[in-house]
Amino acid sequence: EHGADGSAEIAWFTSDLDSAATERLELASDLRRAIDNDGLSIAYQPKVNLKTGQIDGVEALARWAHPTRGYVSPAQFIDVAERTGLIRPLTLWVVDSAIRQAAEWEKTGCDISVAVNLSTVVMQEESLARHIIDRCREHEVPGHRLTLEITESQMMGDLERSSGILALFDAAGMRVSIDDFGTGYSSLAQLKGLPVDEVKIDRGFVTHLARDADDRAITEAILKMAKSLRLHVVAEGIEDQTSLDLLTAMGCDSGQGFHLHRPMSAEAVGVLLRRQDPSIPTVLPLRHAR
Ligand code: C2E
Ligand code: MG
Ligand code: MG
Ligand code: MG
Repeated sequence: EHGADGSAEIAWFTSDLDSAATERLELASDLRRAIDNDGLSIAYQPKVNLKTGQIDGVEALARWAHPTRGYVSPAQFIDVAERTGLIRPLTLWVVDSAIRQAAEWEKTGCDISVAVNLSTVVMQEESLARHIIDRCREHEVPGHRLTLEITESQMMGDLERSSGILALFDAAGMRVSIDDFGTGYSSLAQLKGLPVDEVKIDRGFVTHLARDADDRAITEAILKMAKSLRLHVVAEGIEDQTSLDLLTAMGCDSGQGFHLHRPMSAEAVGVLLRRQDPSIPTVLPLRHAR
């Protein structure tokens, strides 16, 4: 078996691939269980309006505390979910939880929009879009209380289909946000005519703003173009005060990042919202009834 022709190396390489595949399979079956048994949770990261200093939105970020591995990063489990078809039930779980939470915030008079991240598959299935719209109606959440974050590359993959789905969200009054903007191959000009409300400048350009002149130039260019298209601009990944000051001076509308707020529980968001508007009543923590 271990010939001088490198077959030992091939055998090693193959078993390495096998173990990666086995690991993915294992993660996938654990993830399936987590989705079915409320083993997932959501962390909400505030979006802060840089003109008023007020929280004007939150982004729902899926969290998975694995029973033996500890927290698995979304980068890892979203990838597994997308490869195995679990992204559909996972998205439904996130959307349902976020909409129930948005309904709670709406009832207590919180003036925020809740953003959920949508994967490519969702952008290819009209039924999922309709499900999201129906859920909002059911829970009496006005359209503008929901923002759908779609990455630039996902949107540009099948532009015709995506624009049909965006039109459905738009007709329901929902907000559409282009996530990780600047990393794809599109230009803002291609967004012209699409019902897009918001652009999020990728954190790759934002985090080093204070010390990288190229990143500053790119950020300024995106801002200028987005403003002329009347888009709301959010900078993600703000990690220091200098970057925050720069973005504010550049006229960026909103910001997100560890320097402002880390992702947190819905209850913690409630505390921040009550602090900025004392008329918001305290509510009991929302139970995830199935
Ligand atoms: P994203 O939508 O671009 O979300 C922003 C990510 O950046 C989050 O990571 C957030 O915790 C992180 N972040 C926020 N501020 C800072 C900062 O100042 N510095 C740094 N270094 N990072 C910051 P997270 O939660 O690990 O999520 C990673 C990605 O996974 C998300 O990127 C999103 O694409 C995806 N994701 C998360 N939840 C979901 C979900 O429910 N559905 C789908 N389809 N994708 C999700
Ligand atoms: Mg996002
Ligand atoms: Mg719209
Ligand atoms: Mg992003």
